[in-house]
Amino acid sequence: MDILEVKNLCKVYGNNEIKINAVDNISVNVKKGEFVTVIGESGSGKSTLLNCIGGLLNPTSGEVYIKGKNIYSLDEEERTIFRRQNIGFIFQSFNLIAELNVEQNIIFPILLDYKKPEEKEVDEILNILGLLDRRHHLPSQLSGGQQQRVAIGRALITKPMLILADEPTGNLDTKTGEEVIELLLKASELYNQTILMITHNLKLTNYSKRIIKIVDGKVKVDVKNNNNRGN
Ligand code: ADP
Ligand code: ADP
Repeated sequence: MDILEVKNLCKVYGNNEIKINAVDNISVNVKKGEFVTVIGESGSGKSTLLNCIGGLLNPTSGEVYIKGKNIYSLDEEERTIFRRQNIGFIFQSFNLIAELNVEQNIIFPILLDYKKPEEKEVDEILNILGLLDRRHHLPSQLSGGQQQRVAIGRALITKPMLILADEPTGNLDTKTGEEVIELLLKASELYNQTILMITHNLKLTNYSKRIIKIVDGKVKVDVKNNNNRGN
């Protein structure tokens, strides 16, 4: 069983007068541990696809199975719980909580489930992401690259099997972006996580073994990348 199965997914925006087929009958399967980059021009439907996969946006039709679970057969509340337990999100804007320090931001998803974070695991994440000496800093005291590393830690701390990243390096310079992706890969390998990452930076596709190109809401290209540097 594949970790992610997308079947005939469609998302139509608008009403009868103006209709946009943002996602137009996409079917795609992703195996556990795969790192897939999703490319395509602005407006091609990448974010809409990712948001439908992540349970953040109801598709017009089609199905999304995560670990064999049809997430749109769940009601809103069940889906929220399933999402929290199984999916980690990373966005272009880091979306950190300004009042919380690095460590508090990272453990926030665990607290949401009324659980106590394991100190060892928090240290492990901070260590991998190079943030051990920053644990008590506020987001405003960090560089962009450091803030995104905190966001990665927050996405990984609950050990979700699927990481969805929408332009995670969009606000970073090229070198910092590459460093962040390398850390994301290193951290995700620890738990054999699956990553689906949208990027505008074609250089970053070098890190993945599979590249999907979206054109006008359809999968135009789905290729293996043998020149990869990552996993
Ligand atoms: P990408 O992520 O590739 O830039 P999007 O998924 O954001 O593409 O957008 C795909 C298409 O859907 C675009 O034509 C965009 O204008 C349209 N779109 C996105 N979000 C909305 C929305 N909330 N309402 C109406 N149209 C939207
Ligand atoms: P980067 O190497 O990611 O481009 P910067 O050049 O922005 O980082 O920042 C260099 C150092 O200065 C970083 O270690 C960062 O923690 C620190 N720093 C950046 N912005 C601030 C700030 N507003 N307040 C305190 N420290 C900051």
